[in-house]
Amino acid sequence: MSTVRRGLIAVISGPSGSGKGTLINRIVKQDANVCYAVSATTREMRYGEAEGVTYYYKSDAEFDQLVATGEILEWDSFCGYKYGTLRSELESKISKGQDVILDLTVPGARAIKKAFPEDCITAFILPPSIEELEKRIRGRQRETEEQLKLRVHEAQREIELYREFDYSVINDDLDTGVDHLWAIIKAERLTYKRNSDVLNRLNLKGAIV
Ligand code: 5GP
Repeated sequence: MSTVRRGLIAVISGPSGSGKGTLINRIVKQDANVCYAVSATTREMRYGEAEGVTYYYKSDAEFDQLVATGEILEWDSFCGYKYGTLRSELESKISKGQDVILDLTVPGARAIKKAFPEDCITAFILPPSIEELEKRIRGRQRETEEQLKLRVHEAQREIELYREFDYSVINDDLDTGVDHLWAIIKAERLTYKRNSDVLNRLNLKGAIV
């Protein structure tokens, strides 16, 4: 009989400027049983980022090698760079009961949901308005004008896809956004398909095991 609840895979998507990174950081800090799955990318490291914390930074050839060996479970291109989910960041953690948060593009979210239909839930983070979204992207001042335009364009395109997701969280006030994302994770932990070991111990009639 299994005594360890299998970890949840919470896939978070949303356009640049939705504030999903900030929401994820807050959730990871407040619960030791939730960790962030660090992806591989070919984009350059930005100021304030660190190898193995924000991303594993790879050359194109290194990235392609990880895809060829199957270490990258899914990958997508975004604004000219490749981003991919590492098998090592995911499977060992969920089998030990650790909940894992991934920050993915919409095609990445679709791919992980398909690969882990039982473990995965998806949430889309929305900004309070398109004007606010553009203001946030521009306010970060870390990209060139050309990269900014591309990100704003991508954001407007991506935002239309929120209906594909299990949940949506509007990130206007940060504390409320954190509360809502946290509520989703807590509720999902309590579904009975994720607690079959407890139901088994209670020996309930008709329990799903
Ligand atoms: P950024 O350059 O702002 O860190 O990330 C750009 C985009 O890449 C974000 O929308 C983020 O969700 C996405 N992303 C980061 N890692 C992965 C990954 O492993 N797979 C996919 N499909 N998208 C990712």
